[in-house]
Amino acid sequence: MTTTSSGVQAYIGIGANLGDPEAQVRESFVRLARDLPQTRLTGRSRLFRNPPMGPQDQPDYVNAVARLQTRLAPLELLEGLQAIECACGRERDGTRWGPRLLDLDLLLFGDRQLELPGLQVPHTGIAERDFVVLPLLELAPGLRIPGLGALEPLAQRFDGAGLIPIKEPGEDKAIAEGRG
Ligand code: ADP
Ligand code: MG
Repeated sequence: MTTTSSGVQAYIGIGANLGDPEAQVRESFVRLARDLPQTRLTGRSRLFRNPPMGPQDQPDYVNAVARLQTRLAPLELLEGLQAIECACGRERDGTRWGPRLLDLDLLLFGDRQLELPGLQVPHTGIAERDFVVLPLLELAPGLRIPGLGALEPLAQRFDGAGLIPIKEPGEDKAIAEGRG
């Protein structure tokens, strides 16, 4: 069960490829934890470097996923995510898959399936994107996607070759000291 009295488990897809993409993604974790009412950040994947979808004349993306526990309604959560995108300097110029400082997508909202104007959940194309599926699998191996079934077999279609994990700050030191 994903719906409890403490709210619903929601998964957020995070991407950035302008400015300092790694810093933007790390800032988004801080903002997801701090700026959304009635919401807690309960987990996140590692960060991955990834070549862009669509137009190729743009820098590599940095992608990750986060898990929230929220009592917000789906559209309230989407509004909160868009406010964070704006706070991080994103300009909404209408270019799909164009370069951006920060993109936050509502991937999953509990076991809900929604077809609202401006909000489809599960997020369209969720199962076709290695940079979504593989970080999701890392964060929540037993996850099921409403309408599509278990995440694990969906993930087996990807070899992950284009996704380069980014070291966490302090990771080299931890490995050198035998804590890695
Ligand atoms: P993309 O993420 O596909 O590159 P945008 O971030 O520019 O594109 O989003 C375009 C629109 O997608 C938003 O205005 C939003 O209303 C709509 N949208 C529909 N479903 C979702 C969802 N699950 N999460 C985020 N945005 C969504
Ligand atoms: Mg988006």
